[in-house]
Amino acid sequence: MNKTHVTVLEIDSNAIIHNFRYFKSIIKPTTKFLGVVKAFSYGNESVAISKILEQEGADYLAVAFIDEGIALREAGIKLPILVLHPQTETLHHLIPYQLEPNLYSFRVLNEFINILNKEAVDSYPIHIKFNTGLNRLGFSATDVDSVIAILKNNPILRLTSLFSHLVASEDLNERDFTLFQINSFKKIATQITEQLNSKPILHLSNTSGTINFPEAHLDMVRVGIGLYGFGNDAAETSKLKNVGVLKSRISQIHTINPGESVGYNRAFISSETLKSATIPIGHADGFHRNLGNKAGYVTINKQKAYILGNVCMDMIMVDVTHIACKEGDEVLVFSSQENVEDLAARSGTISYEIITGISQRIPRVIN
Ligand SMILES: *Cc1c(COP(=O)(O)O)cnc(C)c1O
Repeated sequence: MNKTHVTVLEIDSNAIIHNFRYFKSIIKPTTKFLGVVKAFSYGNESVAISKILEQEGADYLAVAFIDEGIALREAGIKLPILVLHPQTETLHHLIPYQLEPNLYSFRVLNEFINILNKEAVDSYPIHIKFNTGLNRLGFSATDVDSVIAILKNNPILRLTSLFSHLVASEDLNERDFTLFQINSFKKIATQITEQLNSKPILHLSNTSGTINFPEAHLDMVRVGIGLYGFGNDAAETSKLKNVGVLKSRISQIHTINPGESVGYNRAFISSETLKSATIPIGHADGFHRNLGNKAGYVTINKQKAYILGNVCMDMIMVDVTHIACKEGDEVLVFSSQENVEDLAARSGTISYEIITGISQRIPRVIN
């Protein structure tokens, strides 16, 4: 399919390198860097990007699920890989691939101990997560003593890191809450490191935490969206380079006469003579249906061509009445961070969802 599909997502390796080096420049030389490559590197391409991060000297990678980590190992990635959300049913798959689990509850912790005992594996690297306010995954502060007791009794576990996750680090109106989270985490970490007499890596900051809260860098930062070019505000984004360009080509051009309609359900009816172009990208590709009916646009020959009628599964039709173009011409769905932010705003979502939602049907081309 890769060679025949004309809609492609081009990925700029140099932009990844630039963004990685930018984050390295705002953390201390001794602070480690974990690159978050879950969900196909936020819809980009995780093997190529992990290789770049490995070459550039990242210290860690993180994925959400075990299968994502296995895919990286099978592609030859050697960096330590933290699996943020492993499932108890499949924990045993971690071991042959040297994937390091986040053990976020007693259920997962005890199950992993059982597995290590069964497989007679010793000193396996694990990560423990504490919930400091997101209420998503993690032990609570009241679990600290029990967690310490379990770790003391089970030397088959090697506590490699302790971490938590910030709720609203991009929102400076929530600064007090973020500072509360930083303090809560530091207290928990101090209790554990003192009582276990060990020095796990402490980490707390996602992209915005890394940008906005230097006091939360601790021993390592976990950067996801920033690597892919988004700083969560315009000033920070301008320091980052755009990574993905989503492009396609015009399949066909139609003349639409007054009174004729375009697309399903006759959602657009023309009152004048128009020229429409059909583009091979649709809602099955992650091009949101609510961008239809002129809510969204693509760019053809540097001009905006708005969507006529409904977005189909595999196609859109756009208005090119005033754009000089012909069948086969290039179409840009987005080619800058501003385009992605604009698409996100127009479809009522955030840049994360736009880029992670680009379907796997669209080939990724690494430049
Ligand atoms: C996804 C994720 C990150 C990365 O967040 P960004 O805002 O994309 O930098 C960091 N930590 C955890 C636990 C995550 O789930």
